[in-house]
Amino acid sequence: MSSIYMIQGKKIVTVSKLGSIENGAMIIEKGKISEIGDRKILRKRYPSIPLIDCSDSVITPSLIDCHTHLLEFAPSSLYPVTPETHLLGGKAILFQTLSAGITAIGEQICGHPLCNFSIEDYRHAVIDLPLDISFATTSISIGFEHLAHFTSITKSSKVNKNDLIDPVLVKKIAQASDYPGENIFINATPANFTKIEVPRAGEIIYTLEELKQIVDIYHQLGKQIGAHVAGENGIKMALEARVDVLHHAHGISDELIKEAAKQHTKIVATPLGGTHLGPNSPEEILKLVENDISVSISTDSYLPPYKGTSWLPFQDDKLKGPDVLMLIAQPAMKLLKKNQYDENDILALITANPANVLGKEDCIGRLDKGMDANFLVSDGIPGLEITEIEKLKQVYFRGVKVIDRTNNK
Ligand SMILES: [Zn+2]
Repeated sequence: MSSIYMIQGKKIVTVSKLGSIENGAMIIEKGKISEIGDRKILRKRYPSIPLIDCSDSVITPSLIDCHTHLLEFAPSSLYPVTPETHLLGGKAILFQTLSAGITAIGEQICGHPLCNFSIEDYRHAVIDLPLDISFATTSISIGFEHLAHFTSITKSSKVNKNDLIDPVLVKKIAQASDYPGENIFINATPANFTKIEVPRAGEIIYTLEELKQIVDIYHQLGKQIGAHVAGENGIKMALEARVDVLHHAHGISDELIKEAAKQHTKIVATPLGGTHLGPNSPEEILKLVENDISVSISTDSYLPPYKGTSWLPFQDDKLKGPDVLMLIAQPAMKLLKKNQYDENDILALITANPANVLGKEDCIGRLDKGMDANFLVSDGIPGLEITEIEKLKQVYFRGVKVIDRTNNK
């Protein structure tokens, strides 16, 4: 691929201050966007550089899933891997992620009984892949009858509740974390277990005082902290302790929404499930947006779809991956459209807002001068107008076409 080229589309939904540009084009130079605007004007300015003509397609930023468990938990759930092939299975999953139009993920490393890998092992495994991966190192508490606690630092060895609040260990976890993922589990998680297996899912693990001390450790290191949290009591504690990002926030009340807005707390909604409570409904996501909260929609995959919602289209119990991001985001995105929100603001839920959670808002998630050339060529606006990954014709990562569905039909 040429180091400089122009690409034009029927429309570019930039998710930047430029909004949507009909008959738009971008100049891509060395993996970045050097110009963006009207295609006739840009062609005049750059008459002889190679042109990629996508005049029948929509161009948008590529998607960002800022809460995933693809490298640690998913390989052994999906494939018959051994420790020797675990990370190879993980790479297969990452390829599927990329082919679903997602070029950046926020990946959680929690500690896992079957995986004795360190955070460095995971970082090393993905170093040359055409994907922007941020890691959140975390501790995790699983709601078995005897609660099971793990941390990314202690890997496959179980730890005690007291270890979770040990300032030395908390500091190590915080230092290794790239971004505020679900660094701590305020409530015990059901993970992917059935209700009978995890009777204590939802139980609050920390006192407010303990929570405040953990948050302080992150903040003293200049890091933001995110928490897995659901239910009014847990969310109230998270806000009082000044947690920066609430992951899930299932069951958030109107009053707590107001409080989160006041504190500029970001929320990562997971409409597929992920806690002991019913997941975020489209109406709840609308309410968060109406209160000017920065909301991201994320898959938390791989997860079995929560049963009993009216908005999830799944009829089976199969684990769902990042390829359902558009599908699970669509009900909320359509509801926002119905409420007169601009398509750029709507698309931000799976592009610019998660980029902001990852702390990479100056590089990815929007199409504008100087940003990484990570974009999709599609039949429509991802999530809002299309949900099938087959309609994502091409995926570009830093200016390079990494997925192409146009010539293998
Ligand atoms: Zn999670």
